Amino acid sequence: MAGTCDICGNKTGFLNQFRCQDGILCKDCYKIVSNHYSSTIAGSSLTELKKIHARNSRPIELGEDGFCITKKIGTFLLLDQKNHKFCLLSNQQITGTYTRPEIFRFEQLERYELLSEPALTFDQLAALPASKNVKENSALQDSPPAADRISDIFHSAAVRSRGAFCVSQNEISCDTRKTVIRKLAVQLHLTNGLSREILIIPSPVRVSSLAFRQGLKSAEEIMNAFKTQT
Ligand SMILES: [Zn+2]
Repeated sequence: MAGTCDICGNKTGFLNQFRCQDGILCKDCYKIVSNHYSSTIAGSSLTELKKIHARNSRPIELGEDGFCITKKIGTFLLLDQKNHKFCLLSNQQITGTYTRPEIFRFEQLERYELLSEPALTFDQLAALPASKNVKENSALQDSPPAADRISDIFHSAAVRSRGAFCVSQNEISCDTRKTVIRKLAVQLHLTNGLSREILIIPSPVRVSSLAFRQGLKSAEEIMNAFKTQT
């Protein structure tokens, strides 16, 4: 059944109309509100979607001299070293939500800092043992090596019942405190009281994991990029 898009008013066909809670969208509008089809809209209201559409369909403000990519750091950051600008990317894979890329001038960056949970400096993090030389009892060693994320271990009843990691939601026991990093991010303090967080590790990882080593390397690259430009 053909209809009309409730956002742009274009005709929709049977195969290219997308239903939200209280309306239908054409394929073009759906693409815009779903960040290139990466989310569903069935549970969203037309009012919410109209707001997202207005925000996302607007071109990204590049500033007067445009943006010329001279360096890219993972999915986190683009640099324009010629025009002294940087672009914070959406980083959706890590944060789980789409945010529009934002462009700033390096002059806008007052300072930056590494945030980690537990709070450690970069050097302290880099000095954490990469190998599993921490006290781990046999129950943990029996667990599948694929359980890189500590959350996998938390959810494994078998491991928990044998007391390998005694972890409550808010408290990490002494032993695991040294071996688990719950979060890693670079916090940017910008002019006018603005701040942005570049999230690198969103959920607990073991310091022995590849995820942690890669995350720390990304943090170093991001901070080096800011260090050389500011
Ligand atoms: Zn439309």
